[in-house]
Amino acid sequence: MKEFKPANNIQDLQYFGEFGGVNPSISDSSTYTFLSAKTMFDTFEGNADGCYLYSRHSTPSNLYLGEALAAMEGTETANVAASGMGAITPTILQFCQAGDHVVSSRTIYGGTYAFLKNFTPRLGIETTFVDITKLDIVEAAITKDTKIIFCECVSNPLLEIADIEGLSKLAKKHGLQLLVDNTFSPLTISPVKLGADVVMHSLTKFINGSSDTMGGVTCGSQELIDTLRNVNDGASMLLGASMDSLRAASILKNMRTLHIRMKQHSSNAMYLAKKFEADGLRTVYPGLPSHPGHELFKKMMNEEYGFGGMLTIDVGSLEKANTLMELMQERNLGYLAVSLGFYKTLFSAPGSSTSSEIPEDEQAEMGLTDGLIRFSIGLDNDIERTYEMMKECMAEVGILVPVNN
Ligand code: PLP
Repeated sequence: MKEFKPANNIQDLQYFGEFGGVNPSISDSSTYTFLSAKTMFDTFEGNADGCYLYSRHSTPSNLYLGEALAAMEGTETANVAASGMGAITPTILQFCQAGDHVVSSRTIYGGTYAFLKNFTPRLGIETTFVDITKLDIVEAAITKDTKIIFCECVSNPLLEIADIEGLSKLAKKHGLQLLVDNTFSPLTISPVKLGADVVMHSLTKFINGSSDTMGGVTCGSQELIDTLRNVNDGASMLLGASMDSLRAASILKNMRTLHIRMKQHSSNAMYLAKKFEADGLRTVYPGLPSHPGHELFKKMMNEEYGFGGMLTIDVGSLEKANTLMELMQERNLGYLAVSLGFYKTLFSAPGSSTSSEIPEDEQAEMGLTDGLIRFSIGLDNDIERTYEMMKECMAEVGILVPVNN
């Protein structure tokens, strides 16, 4: 197979503005004129290629961004949405109806978990949550009603690694679709190359990278994207979480530096993970040989982008985690904030924030402990200094042996 080069695919796209601008013009309109009433009718029927109808359906700016994301993921096309959840929820609903069943990883973003656990049962869609790293358990959960397998390549917040090739074989064997959320590992992992059918992202995170907007995308076949946008029964079109053109244009511009940013996030995270582990902290980072998914990640990854910017440490208790995070913020080492992919390091305790939708007993079962801190490592130029300063904070909170001891 020819090597897949996701960043080259983004770079090779070429768009010009209508006056020869090096950036495409932004379509600042919610609606579009037609020269003939017949064409308007045809467009509603989905039969007028290249015609724009109404911005909830599509806009030129959204299509440019969608094309760049499809190029990155190696899919025919893509549909952008107003947020990650605005992409994930309609995509799941497009595949499932009352009576259908979903097999999902149990360690996924809290919002997606809550959607599958609490919301979709209201529509008659049931989900079995499984340990996604155990293919036999995944297969055992499949029923005659199952339509999709859902997982995150690198899970939020436990950083478990899903075997996309293995899951795709299972999906094919049982006639299911494999839907993958690749928010934690853009460029690093290319799920479609490994057999996934649909790839989704929260663009709010690494892809946009400046924590100034929400965004989401579903990358898949032309047929799927047409279905999502269908005016009669398309979940994206009808649920209405469409992206605004101004945002699409700004995300497209930020996306052009994604490969540089990912390399820096990854090398900084690798540096800190190695140091933390050597200091005796319980550290989870896919780049460490001690990570149970390390070899699998290595097998799947596009090597040049590294193992990503996310790592966790366990400091023993929520109290210690909170004190440490407040101190690190006071020393300007990052922000006590949810989300990820920013130039500054962001840290939060997922058990009481981004995964708080997951009941405590289930958190315990999946290994989500109180003292867990999730870090999205920033683009720091001087990561050695960052480490020394973090170590001082830890010593002050009584987490590590004092410096110079
Ligand atoms: N998927 C993952 C892995 C996430 O971490 C998040 C948000 O934290 C989402 C999806 C949802 O994205 P958004 O907040 O843009 O709706």
